[in-house]
Amino acid sequence: MKALVYHGPKKVSVDNVPDSKLEKLTDVVVRLTTTNICGSDLHMYEGRTDVEKGKILGHENLGEVVEVGKAVDTVKKGDKVVLPFNIACGFCANCERGLTGFCLTCADPSVMPGMAGAAYGFAGMGPYSGGQAQFLRVPYADFNCLQLPKEDAEEKEKDYVMLSDIFPTGWHSTRLAGLKPGESIIIYGAGPVGLMAAMSARIQGASQIFVVDGQPDRLALAEKIGATTFNTKDENGAIGDQIRELTNGLGADCGAECIGYQCHNSAGKEVPNLVMNSLVDAVKATGTIGVVGVFVPQDPGAEDKLAKKGEIAFDFGKFWFKGQRMGTGQCNVKAYNRRLRDLIHHGKANPSIIISHELSLDEAPNAYKHFDNRDKGWTKVVLHPQAA
Ligand SMILES: [Zn+2]
Ligand SMILES: [Zn+2]
Repeated sequence: MKALVYHGPKKVSVDNVPDSKLEKLTDVVVRLTTTNICGSDLHMYEGRTDVEKGKILGHENLGEVVEVGKAVDTVKKGDKVVLPFNIACGFCANCERGLTGFCLTCADPSVMPGMAGAAYGFAGMGPYSGGQAQFLRVPYADFNCLQLPKEDAEEKEKDYVMLSDIFPTGWHSTRLAGLKPGESIIIYGAGPVGLMAAMSARIQGASQIFVVDGQPDRLALAEKIGATTFNTKDENGAIGDQIRELTNGLGADCGAECIGYQCHNSAGKEVPNLVMNSLVDAVKATGTIGVVGVFVPQDPGAEDKLAKKGEIAFDFGKFWFKGQRMGTGQCNVKAYNRRLRDLIHHGKANPSIIISHELSLDEAPNAYKHFDNRDKGWTKVVLHPQAA
């Protein structure tokens, strides 16, 4: 089969590799029809992780089941399914509590003592191949496959594929932030996840949605979703002051971090603590901050001395003084994806509006280049691995 393979920093190519196959009785193999490039793939692409050469990338996957292991009960050949980027067993102590992003059975404990969680095609998340490929092996298929409605699986495929990661992850940021109907939220980042956070906040009845980013094309999408936007490159003073002006001097009720450790200041310099400290400033006293942007335990490629060890200079004093709270970590996709699927099915959510490019798998290396350069207009790339 063809697959997108990582060969080193900024080196990926579409290679012929051995076909995905059933390895355990609980597996299925899916013929992928849509798979996305994610902002978090760029951390690996840029060599800012310890991902091994030869890894097939891709964790946002949707397709049709073509092979079924003997111990799989509910998934049948021909089913259209979307796969959470987390690979989870469904029966460990964390999965039992709904924390499927921290599965203990599928994790690779050699990464870090106490490590939990697994994913397709991702640094430090186990030996699993990714789905920027023609086929994908899905472990614990009964648990991990989300069935799509027969009547619109194809028509809404580009919406449903967002259930693999960015829609649940955006939603998760608002849940970690404890958003309640009628409250205001400030979202840092108008990339795909930040835009999904804005859409989620709208669905959940936020009174004001503030989105902060430095890219006008992305901010325009946020406005389309119903957000009030702030361009970090405009010289209107500190974002916190602008937010307080719009919230009776208090600050936003809650905040969401949708950027992660590779955030940049308005001059384009990477400043890993910038967004976290801006959120502490812009969120009201007693407010909660949800952090879904990726931070890593070590980042040897960083320029910043602290960041090399996975640390940031965090305004903990201000955070403590304001009595704020914080929730962090990757999204437990299974906690939300079934209900978010139904929002799409019934026309209440349309995450595909953020797609900027639909390409074949062969075009993926070029797409990585543009997406990594943050070239104008490259918001979200969707690949169709079966297209010629
Ligand atoms: Zn992703
Ligand atoms: Zn588990």
